[in-house]
Amino acid sequence: MIENDNRNVPEEERAVNGAETAIDYYDLSRYELSPEEKAREEMIRQRIRDRRRAAERRRIKRNRTLVLIVAVVLVFILCRGCYASYRKKRDEKQAKAKASQSKVVKPTVQEIDTDSSEEEKPQAGHKIQQVDGLTYVDGILIVNKTYPLPKDYAPGISTAAQAAFDDMTAAAFNDGLYLYVNSGFRSYDEQYALYYSYALDRGIAEADRVSSRPGYSEHQSGLCFDVNSTDFSFSDTAEARWLAAHCADYGFIIRFPKGKEAITGYEYESWHIRYVGVDIAKEITSKGLCLEEYLGVTSSYDDAPDGVSQQQLAEEMGVTVDGPGGSTDTDAESENGTYYDEGYESQVQ
Ligand SMILES: [Zn+2]
Repeated sequence: MIENDNRNVPEEERAVNGAETAIDYYDLSRYELSPEEKAREEMIRQRIRDRRRAAERRRIKRNRTLVLIVAVVLVFILCRGCYASYRKKRDEKQAKAKASQSKVVKPTVQEIDTDSSEEEKPQAGHKIQQVDGLTYVDGILIVNKTYPLPKDYAPGISTAAQAAFDDMTAAAFNDGLYLYVNSGFRSYDEQYALYYSYALDRGIAEADRVSSRPGYSEHQSGLCFDVNSTDFSFSDTAEARWLAAHCADYGFIIRFPKGKEAITGYEYESWHIRYVGVDIAKEITSKGLCLEEYLGVTSSYDDAPDGVSQQQLAEEMGVTVDGPGGSTDTDAESENGTYYDEGYESQVQ
């Protein structure tokens, strides 16, 4: 019983033999995948292909988006450029229309160039902008007989102008001189009352010589002061001489200089200073210019049919155009710089 072959093989060995048999089976089939495994491998390959395709699609999509963004940005830049050039042309056109409406054409008038070519008219390089009814030339607010302010524009005195004025009076005080504000900001209504009182007294033509029509006074801008006295005798004082010599150091110009009456449209006013900032004030003063010359603009009332004429204003106010002994043509007279009677107090623009 013990000799029996089969039964003599120890149990462990039998197990090993069995295992050998099993290994032989697997060895033989190792390089030939079962249909299930083949399917699985194919599935994996398919998945890899799908992922690659998806990645490729994403890449193309990304590139397309990028191209689209670049195109949109380019179109935006192009549109902005076109709009800017359209606005520039429109502003220049408006400025030219305004200039051509002026009744009196003075030798200093520089026509605003509607043709953007700067080679033809290199001197006409001023940029005129209209913002909410205010006119800026090269960024400077201009208020004169050509460029009025809106009726409801009432900013009060500019804080920058007031601070500069305070610095200036302190410096004058150190030199033993006393400067003070005679008149600063003046509203449309205040100017109306002032102008009306002249017009009632002397007629529109004479009122135009000594005062501004409501809306046309620089005092409504809050950027100017009448210093000390508004009498012509002020120009002979030490204060007036100090003012003329030093106001530019504080950003002010003598707004209506002597000899520029035909350009500014006003008599010489030694007391009326306008704030423009130190750099510009120094440049204007050192070049001996008035603000109209510096900015290349006119200053004359628009008496064209669609503008406010002396006659219309007179009718509106219920006064006469002519003052006592005056004529309807005193505009020309005032622009020649003729002084009016001394007895008539020079209550200012
Ligand atoms: Zn003034």
